Amino acid sequence: MKEFNTNSLVRENILKLQPYISFRDHNEFNAPVLLDANECPFGEFNRYPDSSQKRLKNKLAAFKGVSPAQIAIGNGSDELIDLIVKIFCEPKKDAILMMNPSFAMYGFYAAVNENEVLKLDLDENFEIVKDDFLKIAQERDIKIFFLCSPNNPTGNSVEDIEFFIQNFKGIVVIDEAYIEFSGNKSAIELLSKYPNLIVLQTFSKAWGTAGARVGTAYASEEIIRFINTVKAPYNVNSLSQELVLNILDDEKRLKENVQNVLQERAWLEDQFKTIKCIEKVFPTDANFFLIKMKEGKMVYEKMLEEEVLTSQRSPAIQDCIRINVGSREENEKLINVLKEI
Ligand SMILES: *Cc1c(COP(=O)(O)O)cnc(C)c1O
Repeated sequence: MKEFNTNSLVRENILKLQPYISFRDHNEFNAPVLLDANECPFGEFNRYPDSSQKRLKNKLAAFKGVSPAQIAIGNGSDELIDLIVKIFCEPKKDAILMMNPSFAMYGFYAAVNENEVLKLDLDENFEIVKDDFLKIAQERDIKIFFLCSPNNPTGNSVEDIEFFIQNFKGIVVIDEAYIEFSGNKSAIELLSKYPNLIVLQTFSKAWGTAGARVGTAYASEEIIRFINTVKAPYNVNSLSQELVLNILDDEKRLKENVQNVLQERAWLEDQFKTIKCIEKVFPTDANFFLIKMKEGKMVYEKMLEEEVLTSQRSPAIQDCIRINVGSREENEKLINVLKEI
């Protein structure tokens, strides 16, 4: 186990903070008369949700092989990114580190909290240059390193993840929003080895429930306690908690979603070879492609005219467009439009 003291990284005001405890959620009752929360006594969703998400955590714990106390649940993993920044980064003083290009929300929430955003430019294969990483990790006192694997928008996975965890003094967050599509092992299994690690996952991508807004963080019990302390008490609503409890019983659904997407991904990759406006399709471990076009802006706009919405990555990644795998019908439409260009 790596030598590490979580408290020494946490902001002083957060160390002192007392969590809001819902008495109802933190005690066992048989058939309580609920007159404690000023709710309406009528209706189907009249009660506040379970603020500690007990059932959901218990089920997830069994599913992921961790203890319930190692899980925090957020209103999407976006909320968890926001909370993690708030817990560790003193406004106007601390900094975060992220890959460049990578998921914009790390920089966004750091900016909201008035923290400096340091960026590690990836090489031409979208990999981290280890020497650049070592240099900045040694030179600067950085609170959080956000690693995204597979990375959005480049699609590739981060190689040699443990190297980055071992050589970083602060918190390492590994965002695994697309892990199910990659065939890679989750970094959750590294949690017992690295107390400075937080792994983020989400129900928004492979599970297919982006509308429910449920994301998860896995980390040491110490770190999870801080997340639970700073989160809004009722951050995950009852409908979403029920929905996710139900889909967790349906493991087939995840497998089918992933299989379908991977099949369609292979089909698209094949089709892309026949398309003239494409210069390069980058290798992907996710449910999307990063594609370099001969004329990125023009291709993007032509697709838009045909109401095929894609994600323009120029000028950050010159002439590149990120396109996610859709249903067969959607993919056919995409290919037909691209063929016309
Ligand atoms: C889509 C995505 C998420 C998921 O965010 P939610 O708030 O859980 O919907 C997280 N990280 C990355 C890199 C993503 O692309």
